Amino acid sequence: AKDPVRVLVTGAAGQIGYALVPMIARGIMLGPDQPVILHLLDIPPAVESLNGVKMELIDAAFPLLQGIVATTDVAEACKDVNIAVMVGGFPRKEGMERKDVMSKNVSIYKGQASALEQYAAKDVKVLVVANPANTNALILKEFAPSIPEKNITCLTRLDHNRALGQVAERLGVAVSSVKNVIIWGNHSSSQYPDVNHAVVEGPDGVKSVRSAVADDAWLNGEFIKVVQQRGAAIIKARKLSSALSAASSACDHIRDWVLGTPEGTFVSMGVYSDGSYHTPPGIIFSFPVTCKNGNWNIVQGLSIDQFSREKLDATGAELVEEKEVAYSCISE
Ligand code: NDP
Repeated sequence: AKDPVRVLVTGAAGQIGYALVPMIARGIMLGPDQPVILHLLDIPPAVESLNGVKMELIDAAFPLLQGIVATTDVAEACKDVNIAVMVGGFPRKEGMERKDVMSKNVSIYKGQASALEQYAAKDVKVLVVANPANTNALILKEFAPSIPEKNITCLTRLDHNRALGQVAERLGVAVSSVKNVIIWGNHSSSQYPDVNHAVVEGPDGVKSVRSAVADDAWLNGEFIKVVQQRGAAIIKARKLSSALSAASSACDHIRDWVLGTPEGTFVSMGVYSDGSYHTPPGIIFSFPVTCKNGNWNIVQGLSIDQFSREKLDATGAELVEEKEVAYSCISE
């Protein structure tokens, strides 16, 4: 039998956490033969609810779940973890300035970075979900210098999956037949969902999404807007933000990163930019990647037309600005 993998979920008593932990315990994140030990962290006001989640996990008798550490102590939560999914964060409340939200999250992510640096497994893989996800991940990278920068990522897989879903709905095909959409940039409404390299597999072979949809006005307009604004649409419909889809996408992100992407398929991940595609280096930017042996690599050589160029530049500029705001909070 395999040794168990220790998976940390922060903000574990929250909505996404509640949807995510049973998925991990069922093997959806790391595979049906991979035992796990769940480390659940939340803050003191959420401790009762956190213990309730722990009770339910025990009651569900998940065969793969070999242990549960539920705590409000960051050091204890981070001890020896192999995977860290950072869902906890300070939400933007009505009337709050962007800078105030940033400042709260900078201090949270600074503290958690230090704890991961000190207590986690040396090769810990980190996925930041809490917003502003890209910049929280960047802060985490800054304050955990011994964690390899390739091990710190943020979630744009939900946006990626939303784009696949929109194309599949439009074409009336199964979502599994659509692949290789790209989310570029920030996990915010400046993100660019790009279908220029996406394909759909049908009974008569593989077609480009552009030719299958045959409606560039929709692909360059409504489609992009729907994907960018999907989070807000869910809040409007559910009166709560997306949780099951965020949790499911977090599992997809880690699973593909650890177990590899299928041959010929790429996915979107927020990773530390090396300046590929003339993006600003030194920020966490979402790129198309393939994964193998536990490593991601940015897909190179894709053509970028003028329309795309402008959108990549705009989302990159927003991230540079967020970085500046975040760094000004650090020095305060
Ligand atoms: P959720 O579980 O709904 O969301 C958690 C975080 O994920 C939020 O920052 C949210 O951003 C973000 N997120 C990123 N992408 C998405 C997406 N597509 N859809 C929805 N959310 C997304 O929040 P809850 O308030 O239910 O739970 C948060 C937990 O974190 C609580 O248990 C709380 O106690 C804990 N917490 C921990 C802190 C700490 O570690 N110091 C500080 C504050 C809270 P957004 O805010 O933009 O919706």
